[in-house]
Order: sequence, then structure tokens, then C-alpha cells
Amino acid sequence: MDTIKSVKGFKDFFGLDAEIFEAIEKTLFGVAEAYGYKRIILPVVEYTELFSRSVGEETDIVKKEMYTFTDKNERSLTLRPEMTASVARSYIENHFETYPTPFKVAYLGPCFRYENPQKGRYRGFYQFGVEAFGDDSPLLDAEVISLAFSALQKFNIKGLKVKINSIGCRKCRPNYRKALVDALTQHYDELCSDCKRRLETNPMRILDCKKESKELKDSLPKTIDYLRDECKDHFNAVTNYLISMNIPYEVDNTLVRGLDYYTRTVFEVISEDLGSQNALLGGGRYDYLIEELGGRPTPGVGFALGVERLIEILKAQKFTVKEKSIIYIAYQKSSITKAIKVAQTIRDAGFTVLVDTKCGNFKNQLERSAKRNAKFTIIIGESEIASNTLQIKNMATKEQKEIKEVELLNALKERQNA
Ligand code: AMP
Repeated sequence: MDTIKSVKGFKDFFGLDAEIFEAIEKTLFGVAEAYGYKRIILPVVEYTELFSRSVGEETDIVKKEMYTFTDKNERSLTLRPEMTASVARSYIENHFETYPTPFKVAYLGPCFRYENPQKGRYRGFYQFGVEAFGDDSPLLDAEVISLAFSALQKFNIKGLKVKINSIGCRKCRPNYRKALVDALTQHYDELCSDCKRRLETNPMRILDCKKESKELKDSLPKTIDYLRDECKDHFNAVTNYLISMNIPYEVDNTLVRGLDYYTRTVFEVISEDLGSQNALLGGGRYDYLIEELGGRPTPGVGFALGVERLIEILKAQKFTVKEKSIIYIAYQKSSITKAIKVAQTIRDAGFTVLVDTKCGNFKNQLERSAKRNAKFTIIIGESEIASNTLQIKNMATKEQKEIKEVELLNALKERQNA
């Protein structure tokens, strides 16, 4: 019979990948907490309109990449392609404006985009992110970048670069849009069919179309030259704060990012270890998002990081996860009740315990313990039960010692770091 494979573009996490995933989750939420972010857990399915209104009708994500379906009630639903829109929806729906500002949340969860799978790009992938609402201070932009940077520093990642730009606000846009359309009109024949349409509907999206050449994009007008004083000052303040925070950055005036909701600051952290899909995380400010989703005008800023890409970098840099040592329990069949009880006691004290399930003779049980790389094997036989003792065997040195049962926990704790 044919076996069933996973869906193209989706992957399983096990072994080292799963261990690194867990380490990432722990570290990122730990750093986010240190900046005052609380975890938010959101549904993977939303009404499609949420993404068309926020990410933008003209983006590749909404136009081509969403997993959209109608439910039995003929409502159009979508598996979330990203999470900022969901957080914003939740902000409005749950009245987070009643909490002190900035209102800060962090999340981790699966996202779905029907993209061409390749290294670093999947159809099902995980994003970790943070969002802060209700404050347009440039300090918050810098703090969000600093959070991302400190989290990555915890893993000692080398070769990271922060790229930053400002794309201005609503008031800067008309002048920029005009200059961009003028420049693009001269290259009309070179544009792909999508971009020919975008020239009318949303010309800024042409700047992150994967089909247009870098030469063309580099030759186009830059948002930074069309910023009003207020946006220019905001951007300068962000970069000055980054300097005070000792965060190395590079202004990249070609950076615009692929979603419609961004305003002012946009940034990415890229890694040399990632190849062509080199953006490890991306984010920015989105001061109109809440308003565009029907809430009261509320500024916001955040970023999202691709967990699979971080796992790839960590593996390339030979990151190892310190495994907890295993305590193995070998016993004679008649001692099984004691074996179960001892296992429970040491698990409750925080140790990882494997009880041999096949039982049989001690030689085989010790072989299985060695295969599991157990640090110690506790041996329980009839004579140990009679004398309320246990044998504890160090699997590396092969040294075996008899100890009183009541002394077991202390004996393990003493030997734990030996
Ligand atoms: P975005 O939501 O497009 O700004 O992406 C934020 C981050 O999510 C990127 O920097 C990537 O690390 C990650 N990411 C986005 N799309 C994918 C994908 N298809 N597969 C894997 N990671 C992705």
C-alpha cells in the first residue's frame, strides 16, 4: 500500500530540529518578557477580509499565496499568512486600548503561504513576533529592533545585519508616489504583467516584486528623499537610539517590505548563512493598521521572525542543545512495583527517567540503558528490596555503588554535574 507523505512545503520537526525549536521558543519569549511583552495565542483561521484589508489586495501574499476556502456557511476563510493582522484584529475586538500603553504582545505559531518551496521558504512555517500598540515614539521602534537583536545575540549568531529604512507616512506618500510612477512609466515595457497593473493600483508594491530586476529597483526614486520633516526626524531619532543601544545597522534605501500596512520605519535582520532567502526577520511601524481594520487610530510597531530560518542558521553554526541526562531503571520482574515508585520519586524531583519496559535479564537492560546514553542506571533486585537499598551505576565509568533508598535523591543530585 502507498504510504502517505506530508504535504509539499510542510515539514516535520523532530530530533535536533525539535530541540532547537524549543530552545528558540524559550529564549525568544524570555527576551520578549524582559521588554514587557506578554504572550498572545491566536486562531490559525481568520476571515479572508482581514488579510485583504491589512496585508493589501495588491501584495503577492493576498493575490497569490493565501490558503483560502469557504466554510459550510459560505464564509471565505483563510489560514493566516502572517500574524500582525490577527493581533490587530484581536486588539480591536478585545479592547486592548483599555490597557496601559504601549500594549505589548509576543506570539509564536504556524503561518501558511502557497509559495514555491525552496531552502528557507515553505508553505507552512512558524513565525515568532512581537507587536506594540498605542505609541508612536521612535524609542519604541528602536526598542523593538533591540529586542530582536538581543534575542539573536543570546544564540551567539555571527554575520547578522540590521537593515533599516523609512517609507514615510500618508502625508509623504503622494509626492513619492508621483515620482515613482513617473520613473516607472519610462520602464513600462520592462515590467511584468502584475507590475503593469500595480503601476495603477499600488506602485510601491513594484519595489518588492520578485520578478523585477535589482538594477531597475536601484534606479528608482527613494522614499527617504520624499519624507516630510516630521518623518525625517522620527527616522533620525530611531537611528540615534540604535546607536545609543549599540546596535549595528545599515540604512538601506531600497528596503520597502512586502506588506501594505507599513509606515515610517521598516527593517530586516539578514544573515549571510541563509543564502538567497536571507531575511531572518522583518518588521516595522504600521500606524494606520488598526484604523484600516475599523478601530480607533492607534500606532503600532513590531517584527516577525521565521523560526525555520533561525533553525537553519543555528544548525549551520553548530548550535547544540544541552540535553538533560537520563536516569535508567533496571529491575527484576518481582521488583516492578518498587521500580515504578522509585521512578516517580525521581521524576518528581525533576530528573528524566526511563523505566525499562521489556525487563528480562540485567545484562540486556544495561545494554538498553547504554543505547539511550543514560548517565546512571538504578538497579533494583530482590536483595535490594529486602535491604531497602539500590545499586547506582555510573554508565560512563562503570562504577557501581550500593546506596540506601532514602539517600537516592541526594546521591543523584551530588552526581548530577559530576
Ligand atoms: P514577512 O511576514 O513576509 O515579513 O516575513 C517575516 C519573516 O518570516 C521572514 O523574514 C522569514 O524569516 C519568515 N518567512 C516568511 N515567509 C516564509 C516562508 N514562506 N517560509 C519560511 N519562512 C518565511
